Amino acid sequence: MRAIHITFLVTAILLSSTVSAAENEAKVSLLFAGDVVLDGQPGKWIARGKDPFSAFAAIFASTDIRIANLECVVAKEGQAADKNFTFRAEPESLSVLKRHVDAVSIANNHSGDFGRAAFSEMLTHLQTNQIQYFGGGNNLSEAHRPLIIERKGLRIALLGYNEFMPRSFEAGAASAGIAWSEDEQLLLDIQQARNAYKADLVIPFMHWGWENELHSNQRQQLLAKKMIDAGADAVIGGHPHVLQETAVYKGKPIIYSIGNFMIDALDNDAQTLGWVIRLELDKQGVTVWDSRIAKISNDGIPEPQARQSSACWVRGDKQSRLCSNADSMFSPAQIRHAGASPKAAAN
Ligand SMILES: [Zn+2]
Repeated sequence: MRAIHITFLVTAILLSSTVSAAENEAKVSLLFAGDVVLDGQPGKWIARGKDPFSAFAAIFASTDIRIANLECVVAKEGQAADKNFTFRAEPESLSVLKRHVDAVSIANNHSGDFGRAAFSEMLTHLQTNQIQYFGGGNNLSEAHRPLIIERKGLRIALLGYNEFMPRSFEAGAASAGIAWSEDEQLLLDIQQARNAYKADLVIPFMHWGWENELHSNQRQQLLAKKMIDAGADAVIGGHPHVLQETAVYKGKPIIYSIGNFMIDALDNDAQTLGWVIRLELDKQGVTVWDSRIAKISNDGIPEPQARQSSACWVRGDKQSRLCSNADSMFSPAQIRHAGASPKAAAN
């Protein structure tokens, strides 16, 4: 009897030490927000001393790394390009962005709205405000260089690409601009991030897809798979201004469009909903992701939808499911146990 007890005790100790070793493995949380335009009403809020991020401040503050797509140029200089919408924000607005965001992607179809000089000026303002950026730079090689963020010993590489016109925003050999989504180079960049930059994880943030389409197109689907085949641990996308579906390929999550986050140029109801996505990462990739719906007001100000269920996913699941807020965002362990069978998450 005593021997059985001792055996049981030893087994229990061994088991619990294995579990705690796995749980103690460094986990880093990474948050993505969609299009942020600090022009228009959000810019005016900031100029009046208000913080348009305040409703989301606690959610942003709860994650280790916060990323957004900066869908405007931030500059005093420049001439508006001849296109339907042009967005330019005041450099003073960056001090508020800095409170909530660690890094921005500048690979999109608006960061070049006021020309290359204004784009270069923005890079300086971002540096001054200590906001890191990726997907653009002072020349082509800078634009394609991954931003490496290291937390708790995990090296995470972020890459940003735009594939929505105009291509004239692309960086040149010696001129400032964005990284264009050219398959061959993009796949090489992903491999380089691992090999040359020694990243543990690589996550491309894409600016792609058709505006107002609630479903990804074949181009997005093919490219997402190619990126994962090349070594991406997750693919996050935006630009359509609406939410699109999610997918899983080779056990890696694809979130085709997280939609808007802070923008007052809204055309229809679908554009007023965005996703703030939180990924939990370990050395093997994404362990869990979940989302919070941002409802965007006419002024372009996001408000978290506390009662609405939203998409979530756990490593091993073949597709995302819906999580209520009770088991979402702050409690990955609960997501693991939530719901008997995963069901597809609605947009
Ligand atoms: Zn866009």
